[in-house]
Amino acid sequence: MIDVKKLATSRRAFMGLAAGGSAALALGAGQAQAKVRTNAKILILGAGAGGAAIANRLVERLDGAQITVLDGRAQHWYQPGFTLIAAGLRDANYAISSTEQWLPRGITYINEYAAELDPEANRVITTGGQRLEYDYLIVSTGLVLDWDAIEGFDLGMVGPENGISAHYAGPEYAETSWRALDRFTDEGGVGVFGRPATEMKCAGAPVKICFLAEDIATTKGNRGKCEFIYNTPATNLFGVPVIHHRVRQIMDERDIAYNYRWTLKSIDLAAKTATFDTPEFLETLEWDHINVIPPQRAPQVIRDSGLAWADRWTDQGWIEVDMQTLRHARYPNVFGIGDINGVPKGKTAASVKFHLPVVEDHLVSEIAGREGTRLYDGYTSCPLITRVGRAMLVEFDYQDNLTPSFPGLIAPLEELWISWLMKEVALKATYNAMLRGRA
Ligand SMILES: Cc1cc2nc3c(=O)[nH]c(=O)nc-3n(C[C@H](O)[C@H](O)[C@H](O)COP(=O)(O)OP(=O)(O)OC[C@H]3O[C@@H](n4cnc5c(N)ncnc54)[C@H](O)[C@@H]3O)c2cc1C
Repeated sequence: MIDVKKLATSRRAFMGLAAGGSAALALGAGQAQAKVRTNAKILILGAGAGGAAIANRLVERLDGAQITVLDGRAQHWYQPGFTLIAAGLRDANYAISSTEQWLPRGITYINEYAAELDPEANRVITTGGQRLEYDYLIVSTGLVLDWDAIEGFDLGMVGPENGISAHYAGPEYAETSWRALDRFTDEGGVGVFGRPATEMKCAGAPVKICFLAEDIATTKGNRGKCEFIYNTPATNLFGVPVIHHRVRQIMDERDIAYNYRWTLKSIDLAAKTATFDTPEFLETLEWDHINVIPPQRAPQVIRDSGLAWADRWTDQGWIEVDMQTLRHARYPNVFGIGDINGVPKGKTAASVKFHLPVVEDHLVSEIAGREGTRLYDGYTSCPLITRVGRAMLVEFDYQDNLTPSFPGLIAPLEELWISWLMKEVALKATYNAMLRGRA
């Protein structure tokens, strides 16, 4: 394990961050307001970042509502922690808690998944066969990782003996991924990294794990025997132009090769090769280590429900919400929070924090007989780790404007220790406060 405490050398910088952190918490914190009396039935699908947080917020705003939360996973996963686990900085337990511990009193929690959803009939059937009727539905199921889309790959291959990492798969896989990465950065060879062609959660995470691996190899004195290649199906290294240029500059400086319009198609474990679709040919690379991040889609139950866009992201199934109100375009009693939303940006936990007040406002206003006014501007944030102890705190909106939370204190495109601390220390505290409905 790398000793992260050794990194904490500047008390002054930490105090500055702590001040900034509490300002950020205050930004989203709900102020005490008179509760709206209602007997509405509100069903929340998913108790991850978005689902748990909106449940906590709604119990503070509504009196008498019958709120039900449905989630078949008994564990809550703090997914931003997966990157730290995969870099050997934390163990799997860092990201694991119980789903139930984040849910408020006075609601009904059903430890099952939604198996069928009929928005015409306002009805959900659970995997256990329960039939749930609702007046309002909040979809916060997150997304599914389509591992089967990578031919020749299965999660049983992840580990040091095969040289495969796949930290998106969960906390335990992130820990096993670290063992694979640790061996690669000891022994050397060709390391292949990259992202899928679909929309994805935390689009900075594929770049982060590549930068971290390169830095760890350097720290171990083994950089000379490692080669790094980053492949992307896009024509850039990050969707926001100014961030793309900065990431490219860092990759050039650190001799990380990159290929545009390369999509991972298959893996041959015996031959230790990976094949990529490119505009002209299939290209095959030999690897000693490969990090696999698969295509990402809406869960099948959502794709089958009629809530998805009919003419956009048709292979992915994100729900058709208004990009500012997050209210469904065809079913006004349905709202979306988090990764499931079919909007141009915003598949991060930081975006969830900004989805929450919008959905809360429009839902509570509707129940109270008013018009909601809050709008989501596409805010997305990613502490883009560049080395152990350094990150760039990039924040942006739908228009690709940079929207720094700490102007003058944290420069978004500089590799700073304070931005690393945001990721390494402050983000989890803010995330937990968000789950409790306080941020
Ligand atoms: C490696 C990695 C690094 C990341 N780093 C960052 C970061 O640095 N900063 C950041 O802001 N974000 C980061 N993220 C992204 C962030 O974790 C997600 O954007 C966020 O968790 C989305 O919240 P959500 O509520 O939409 O989905 P989730 O938190 O994934 O929760 C979805 C929940 O829905 C449940 N569910 C699924 N299907 C059903 C169903 N049919 N019925 C009922 N429930 C269902 C699931 O069990 C789950 O509990 C990272 C993610 C990963 C994987």
